[in-house]
Amino acid sequence: MAKSQGNAPGAGPDRPWADSLQRGRVPGPRLAQQRVVDGTGPGTRSVHAGTYEDPVTGAVGTPVFQSSTFAFTEDTYEAFDQGHIRDVPIYGRYGSPNQWAVQEKIASLEGAESALVCSSGMAAITTTLLALTNRGGHIISSRDVYGGTFNLLREDMHQLGRSVTFTDPTDLDAIRAAVRDDTQVLFFETLTNPLLKALPLRELGELAREHGLLLVVDNTFLSPVCLRPLEHGAHLVIHSATKYLNGHSDVTAGVVSGPRKYVDRVWSQLLKFGGSLDAMICFLLERGLKTLALRMRQHSVNADALAGFLAGHSAVRAVHHPGRPGYPYRWLHELCTEGWGGMVSFELEGGDEAALKLLDRLRLPVVATSLGGVESLVSLPFNTSHSFLTARQRLGVGIEPGLVRFSAGIEDTADLLADLDQALGGL
Ligand code: PLP
Repeated sequence: MAKSQGNAPGAGPDRPWADSLQRGRVPGPRLAQQRVVDGTGPGTRSVHAGTYEDPVTGAVGTPVFQSSTFAFTEDTYEAFDQGHIRDVPIYGRYGSPNQWAVQEKIASLEGAESALVCSSGMAAITTTLLALTNRGGHIISSRDVYGGTFNLLREDMHQLGRSVTFTDPTDLDAIRAAVRDDTQVLFFETLTNPLLKALPLRELGELAREHGLLLVVDNTFLSPVCLRPLEHGAHLVIHSATKYLNGHSDVTAGVVSGPRKYVDRVWSQLLKFGGSLDAMICFLLERGLKTLALRMRQHSVNADALAGFLAGHSAVRAVHHPGRPGYPYRWLHELCTEGWGGMVSFELEGGDEAALKLLDRLRLPVVATSLGGVESLVSLPFNTSHSFLTARQRLGVGIEPGLVRFSAGIEDTADLLADLDQALGGL
């Protein structure tokens, strides 16, 4: 439709969708110049999927389109008229070639129709939950979620007219019992912090469908290389892309992926909340993602080796890691085919004092919050993520004295083991 014909009222031969609730949805948004690598493995998708192939210069990577607005064309007016403005470059907050390139790569890795990048993981979570629920709606979630998410659910949701019930994410009966007539969304993490409890994803997906609910999961700890939740029943999958997806501890970003009908709803909420991702950050995220599959393999190898070593050490009381023989959430082994990422938690016999000494002695890992970077990161829940709880409350959520959270980086395994060995000596 030409620009002069815009805003024609009602349906007609030019506006067939106006009569139809079956309005067709296409994957994307994507540009014709973006690379498609269907039928390939995660390593190939990490490298190639979504890349903008510049017809003018032949640049092999997506150029940075550092522009907040894009010149109108006939396509723009048609998009306004037909109601698909998410599919054309209009304005930076609405979408841009750099957002679309990185979104397409992530969508390809997740097996999703569409993805939407946001300015942080929290922006993705907040925007998604508010887009998929309305006033009076009820969310079922858990205390076993990232602290920022828990605070949002506990402190803000009721102000916004949503109620939240907190359950054990591994207890299907408790989750089923919490379902009410006004329940709209189930929100859980696929692998929890810091005790690495795994979500019974398939069963939860079935429960969600049985009750007409949406299952939204935060898959930050695993990445789509280890687990693709959409293949196992989740409706939407969220990541703090700050972690494994970017992988270099130099970007803050988030992403939500899934069927376009849901992602479009999140997008229209994001337009209002404004948590869009800048082109330069998209460029960095796209570059980081190119090595995702490669990095995840080494993260997993390192965490497996550390967990094995720690389990045999006299200073260590317990190890929480999906690879350990006594790991209680065995269903994760069926869901994850390429390892379970780089997280490992362990408790020291000497309690929090010993844990503080350990952090002083470690030479390679950086003592810092966050996870999923190429460098190993280590922190103690008692004085960071769970410091707002009393010692008794910490015990109540399974945080024993001496608990250490270790995000294994991609360093040489032998170096990490040697460093841990020297740091644990005499503790
Ligand atoms: N989800 C999980 C599991 C996290 O660990 C974090 C941050 O640590 C977030 C979400 C929030 O992400 P961001 O810091 O990118 O907002």
